[in-house]
Amino acid sequence: MNFMSRPIQARIDLSALQNNLRVVRRAASSRIMAVIKANAYGHGLLRAAEALAEAEGFAMLDVRDAVALREAGFRQTLLLLEGFFKADELPLLAEYELASVIHSPQQLAMLDAFPRRNALQVWLKVNTGMNRLGFTPEQFPAVMEKLKRHPAVREIVLMTHFAHADEPEGIAEQLERFRGLTDAYRMPRSLANSAALLRYPSSHSEWVRPGIMLYGASPFAGTGAQQFGLRPVMTLNSEIISVRELKAGDRVGYAGLFCADRAMRIATVACGYADGYPRHAPTGTPILVNGQRTRTLGRVSMDMLSVDLSEVADAVVGSPVTLWGEGLPVEEVATAAGTISYELMCALTARVPVTAA
Ligand SMILES: *Cc1c(COP(=O)(O)O)cnc(C)c1O
Repeated sequence: MNFMSRPIQARIDLSALQNNLRVVRRAASSRIMAVIKANAYGHGLLRAAEALAEAEGFAMLDVRDAVALREAGFRQTLLLLEGFFKADELPLLAEYELASVIHSPQQLAMLDAFPRRNALQVWLKVNTGMNRLGFTPEQFPAVMEKLKRHPAVREIVLMTHFAHADEPEGIAEQLERFRGLTDAYRMPRSLANSAALLRYPSSHSEWVRPGIMLYGASPFAGTGAQQFGLRPVMTLNSEIISVRELKAGDRVGYAGLFCADRAMRIATVACGYADGYPRHAPTGTPILVNGQRTRTLGRVSMDMLSVDLSEVADAVVGSPVTLWGEGLPVEEVATAAGTISYELMCALTARVPVTAA
């Protein structure tokens, strides 16, 4: 079948991905570990990796994704951000030369039982305040001494992850703790996510780990991506499939959440939460119709949502709608819906056709 049964689609702008990689390159002289977890933040794993092929590494969670990249011919460092979960993954990691985060005593024990010599590049994760993954500062010195002499370990990269790089608190406390622990060791380091990369050059070190900025969204609340020269990569488009006139007092959608206070023209758009649009987006969430900014009305349904045409007089059935992306930063839609751009992009569902150019 070569026709579209429903007008919704996501367009992935590959030249924008490449532009955003150049922004990273200009901002940091470090090697770039492009973060492509969660299907490259919803953009398509292999598609994104191909567009970002100039990066020195790719970071993800699923070992199957890393193997797929290796088999597709990628020679870069491929890093598993949560490392291995079971000892039986270790031979696969060695065979495909996959680098692994090591963050827990349980992983250390599995490594001890792995007989292959010089088999793995490990990224030793230190918990400097995030309290999610990583060895504590108290555990770190002993783990470090052990891994330095570990027969299965070929190379060590020291890493940590910041909890507040995008907020006023910043990174000072965590950076100081990391330096205090690791300054004595001559090994490559990796600290910065997108926010730290853009805001704190002192955190750059040997490897930076940008994610969100590669996809053209800003990591900072209230600071647009455009200010950094970033361009949106994903644009979610659909069309108007129905237009109607409301009288004062008419209600719209489930629970009648929106009530017209005057006569007005509205439309129904082919996009709902089953496409990944946030159900919690309230009346007033920004949306483009015919390239003009307007607002959503009432509750988002599974397959449809409603929009206000009061200011878009020329809109008819078939008029183009942009849910986010080019012309409407995904951050603005996310803020209106009480979430972040990351969640919206990752949430795009499999039924939405994706085209890349
Ligand atoms: C997701 C992730 C990143 C990328 O973060 P962004 O805010 O998207 O730049 C970097 N490092 C780790 C460990 C991550 O999990």
